[in-house]
Amino acid sequence: MTNPDRALAQHQETDEPRTIADLPEAVAGRPALQPLADVPIPAPTKEAVDEDDLVHRDFDDTPFWQRIPAFADVDRGTFLQTSFQLRHGVTGAAELRELVGPLVDEAFLADVERGLAEAPMNVRVTPYLLGLIDWDDPYGDPIRIQFLPVASTRRPDHPRLALDSLHEQEDSPTPGLVHRYPDKALFLPLDVCPVYCRFCTRSYAVGGSTGTVAKDGYKPADRRWQAAFAYLAARPEIEDVVVSGGDAYMLPARRLREILTVLLDIPHIRRVRIATKGPAVMPMKILTDTAWTDTLCALVDAGRARGKEVCLHTHFNCMEEITAISREAMDLLFRRGVTVRNQSVLIRGVNDDADRMANLVRQLSWMNVQPYYVYQHDMVKGVEELRTRLEDSMEIERRVRGVTAGFNTPTFVTDVPGGGGKRDLHSFEFYDEITGVSVYRSPAVDPDKAYLYFDPIGLLPDAGRERWARPAEHARIVKEALLAAGLPGRRVATA
Ligand SMILES: *Cc1c(COP(=O)(O)O)cnc(C)c1O
Ligand code: SF4
Repeated sequence: MTNPDRALAQHQETDEPRTIADLPEAVAGRPALQPLADVPIPAPTKEAVDEDDLVHRDFDDTPFWQRIPAFADVDRGTFLQTSFQLRHGVTGAAELRELVGPLVDEAFLADVERGLAEAPMNVRVTPYLLGLIDWDDPYGDPIRIQFLPVASTRRPDHPRLALDSLHEQEDSPTPGLVHRYPDKALFLPLDVCPVYCRFCTRSYAVGGSTGTVAKDGYKPADRRWQAAFAYLAARPEIEDVVVSGGDAYMLPARRLREILTVLLDIPHIRRVRIATKGPAVMPMKILTDTAWTDTLCALVDAGRARGKEVCLHTHFNCMEEITAISREAMDLLFRRGVTVRNQSVLIRGVNDDADRMANLVRQLSWMNVQPYYVYQHDMVKGVEELRTRLEDSMEIERRVRGVTAGFNTPTFVTDVPGGGGKRDLHSFEFYDEITGVSVYRSPAVDPDKAYLYFDPIGLLPDAGRERWARPAEHARIVKEALLAAGLPGRRVATA
């Protein structure tokens, strides 16, 4: 039997619906379908879909935060206030102990304490996220992994890794502005975020100094902003500005308006993206901070009236971060005409699984959030256990592409160390799975350079790990990779 024949046979054997009238009331009852009640349903060409295949349509609408003893009596109205989220966030081990102490082992808390002492990032976790962590399994929880370091899983950094591996400071004409690509620029108006992510690329600047890293912070200083505006105004080739941070969520509405008013008035600037992790970590702000949301929507409208795009880029990494509150917030923005796109970071234990990534992509699509990029984890200090091998990332990409609409399929990119910018992760000139070295070119950024990314050593085959264990081999590993890439002697952007 051919496939359609087999499907037809199954169709006739089971009590599959024959006509529209046999469908569940939620569908059959729709006014537009009632006149079609008797229309026969054509035999399927695909197997029937299991409910389990549609988990991306489930949005938690329970008072999940009440599992935290201190929030047991907090009602929905209070929990949805931004002031509550900011006031009750965890910013240290003592607060964590106070809030979730009764739910977890002492050994886990001690592990976090040691993790925090060694970490390059300060900690900041919203009550929203705390309520979503599975405290019965904090080690395996994808939200815990992103925001709360534990010392016991710490791995040594890769020898080729550096803080600010993207060389943002080198491509900055003035502090807090990065001009790397020909026609776009990245503006960093502030250095605070609603949360601090362990894997943050900008751990060189964001989140205040820690025991291990002293930072060049970016305060919302008028003089610094003005210098950035002057540069943008003076460069007619710049058409696209990313307002990032820190996190634009933390800019008061008035400050957001100040920035956008200037940017939209510069004739050659056509597109402005406001980048924020906010919707993933504190979605209620969109619903309850109406002054902020109204300002955002007004700026989007003002841009559109001038033929310019203002949109929001956010950063969901896994389905566990998404609830009915997120969906409501994204619905509100969609109704008000705000385009929202998503950029995820591929993180071991969080989303480095094709099914989990596919479901995230489907769930974002369901909320009208366009999956835009998935980043290969940057080479950031102190989080070696979060990175994946390039080969594993490519396999996830192969399995995600095709599950849904192409325009909702993220491009998997590596932001190559040394300031080469984002490259499609499949586009390497050479990749050695043994040594974990991949070699990229980035002609639009610098046609003369080669850019290298390095897989985490702990995931390499024995032969690769043995070579990296001998420092004398390191230069030879790089030289061999460049030769194999057909780029011998090419200037290497040092990570
Ligand atoms: C990511 C980035 C941009 C925006 O790049 P897109 O590929 O257009 O999203 C601009 N400038 C810098 C420095 C960046 O890192
Ligand atoms: S919200 Fe963004 S900028 Fe802030 S810590 Fe997280 S990744 Fe870094």
